[in-house]
Amino acid sequence: MKLFSTLNLLPVLLTLSLAARSENVGSAFYGDAPDAHHPWAIHDRNRPQPKHIEPGSFSNQQQPGKPPSDAVVLFDGKDLSKWESDKDGNVPTKWIMKDGAMECVPGSGYVRTKDQFGDCQLHIEWAAPSKVEGESQGRGNSGVFLMSKMEIQVLDNYNNPTYPDGFAGSVYGVNPPMVNPLRPPGEFQAYDIVFRRPIYKNGVVLDPGYVTVFVNGVLVQDHTIIEGGTGHMGRTKPGPFPEVGPLKLQDHGNPVRYRNIWYRPLPPRAVEGGTDGRLTTEATTAKRAEIAAEIRADAAKLKDPANPVPEMLRLAESLVYEMDEQTGDRAHLLATTYMANLAQLSGEKLAAKKDEVKRLRDVCKYLIKAGVIENEDVIKLKLEQIIKDQGWDKKKS
Ligand code: MG
Repeated sequence: MKLFSTLNLLPVLLTLSLAARSENVGSAFYGDAPDAHHPWAIHDRNRPQPKHIEPGSFSNQQQPGKPPSDAVVLFDGKDLSKWESDKDGNVPTKWIMKDGAMECVPGSGYVRTKDQFGDCQLHIEWAAPSKVEGESQGRGNSGVFLMSKMEIQVLDNYNNPTYPDGFAGSVYGVNPPMVNPLRPPGEFQAYDIVFRRPIYKNGVVLDPGYVTVFVNGVLVQDHTIIEGGTGHMGRTKPGPFPEVGPLKLQDHGNPVRYRNIWYRPLPPRAVEGGTDGRLTTEATTAKRAEIAAEIRADAAKLKDPANPVPEMLRLAESLVYEMDEQTGDRAHLLATTYMANLAQLSGEKLAAKKDEVKRLRDVCKYLIKAGVIENEDVIKLKLEQIIKDQGWDKKKS
């Protein structure tokens, strides 16, 4: 019977404890502290907010969608000003504009962007000629060459078998697409590509690089490892890529059309100085020092002799990221002064401090867990004594 009533209470207790926790979500001294590979705490509000961008819209057959607001537009259907001939740099391409699309003129050679870029999210739409001619690799063939080196195949594979590693959506000669989600020839097909180039340092691979491809919204390459460039008949060896290169579109003798081409540069990965994900201990230490300095600068603005608590807490928070003697001394001085003032209080004035004192006790517990102060820290022991003497931890009857 007793067991039963305890069980019945459990959901209530759980709800209460979750509600209590949620009040502090995202405040300081909440989630697991920074560690040797993660410069931020869990749920850290010191971490920068993701920047808001306008998301754009999807295309349909009649008209292209709108790129996201932070995209670099390479072709918007108006002109070829961002493109040049790959045969001879600085000369206009012989590809032509037609009905808001750019069209390959067979024999005119590849076209390439004047822009050079590396890691990116790339959106590109293409259409094979509606008049079906040729078969296998001879039907509606073109290609999207990332950094000029790696071809994501463009091919009219609607009812057109060919070797699988040369299919539309393949990493040419390396990896076939998982499925064939093509629309009929003449209709626009959308490629969405996430490209991360290989990164080497002193001949050692730090990140082999990956490519992810969606064809018409369907995943066909899932984080496929890059094995060098791509080529016909021959395997290439994995190796470093430059930091940037132009995007090229292939002239394979078919009048393939393109529209709505844009990219978004991607932030650096941890191996090249990025600060998201699991970092090296050196990079983590450096970032933690940077965060601590920002918090200390913020704490300096909170100085207030009438109320030392905000500055004290912010300084203590900075110590979670980086131990700093001067900061530790200042925080300790403020805490000691606070405790001395607290010792003078009694009755209603002390009772008014109940929540604050309990909060500071919890902060001490967090700081102990994070290795900032010792388990037998004097301030923490004094706070606990006050809480015990006042019966503040007792449940209301
Ligand atoms: Mg091709």
